[in-house]
Amino acid sequence: MHPPLIGSDLHDITALLSTLTGQDPPAFRARQVYDAVYRQRVQSASLITTLPKPLRERMESEGLLGLPKPAHVYESSDGTKRYLLELNDAKTVETVLMPEGQRYTFCISSQVGCPVNCQFCLTALLGLERNLTAGEIVGQILYVAAANGLSADVSKLNVVMMGQGEPLLNLPNVVKAVRLLADPDGVGLSERRLTLSTSGITPRIYDLAAEPVRPKLAISLNASSEEQRQQLMPITRKYHLKDLIEACRAWPLRSWEHLTFEYVLLKDVNDTDADARRVVKLLANLHCKVNLIALNPGPGIQFSTPDPARVASFQAIVKRSLPCFIRKPRGLDIYAACGQLKRMSTLTEIAI
Ligand code: SAH
Ligand code: SF4
Repeated sequence: MHPPLIGSDLHDITALLSTLTGQDPPAFRARQVYDAVYRQRVQSASLITTLPKPLRERMESEGLLGLPKPAHVYESSDGTKRYLLELNDAKTVETVLMPEGQRYTFCISSQVGCPVNCQFCLTALLGLERNLTAGEIVGQILYVAAANGLSADVSKLNVVMMGQGEPLLNLPNVVKAVRLLADPDGVGLSERRLTLSTSGITPRIYDLAAEPVRPKLAISLNASSEEQRQQLMPITRKYHLKDLIEACRAWPLRSWEHLTFEYVLLKDVNDTDADARRVVKLLANLHCKVNLIALNPGPGIQFSTPDPARVASFQAIVKRSLPCFIRKPRGLDIYAACGQLKRMSTLTEIAI
């Protein structure tokens, strides 16, 4: 089995062409294929018309493009769509498309399931099934963009790695995907439009910081103290909160960048005014903003959602010191909102 074209860089494409043809391809060949896959975003290998017909037809018959196939699509009353996409081993992964006026945000997955056991998250209940390849990460965007006629203008597209999985536990594939997405000769998304959210795998934050092409960083804080975070996010027992904040301090911010801290509010657990004051202290002197997310509930989750007045009071305290926003849930009715990705079925399925 050859690795598919989506996810391949120029070097991989050259290797594939030489295996398929039995000779070293001229240098321009790999470029032509790369351009067709990522810039033109062809939907089938048979449409790579710069290639000789027999070669592209062979690629097509061997399924070498590697786009995911839609298994189910759910559409929310707010316009959000949740895609269950089938990979070539029949496993499925979820991608969410959120239209906002003229802009579109793609929430993509980095793993099938997630090995991090956050107590408030439905994805955690799946456990880890496997890592996604770079091609499977990029393929989510290429498929969903094409299915919604969004192929032309990348300046309207944002990508957040906030779907299933902990991206920093699949770092090599995530880094390769980010390079492909941010390449101006390829998909052409700006690094400014890419955000990676992590539960705080501290050593990998340093690794990502050393990458020449890297997304913006969002950190799922979710607690105001080490003890509370250990309860809610057991991974903190291994990667301590103090070290996480230090890694954030060391992140080499670009001139246009700030850090984002996400904080899931759980009723009577981490949502008091005292928690808000501790969050402010914890984040002192970091160039950052805070996004509050009132818990999105789901079966098997033991917490409840705080009242809007409690959320507002928490926000008011943080806001005195830091920019602080309340993240509006998107696609709640179709299990597409933060922390709800667990391949749930709902009645609002739309025809593919
Ligand atoms: N694994 C990464 C990215 C995916 S989770 C991470 O944890 O950062 C994306 C966001 O959803 C995280 O900020 C997480 O804290 C939040 N989240 C998880 N479960 C949630 C829930 N039930 N309600 C609201 N937000 C939740
Ligand atoms: Fe995994 Fe993120 Fe959910 Fe935690 S919140 S279980 S890291 S997907």
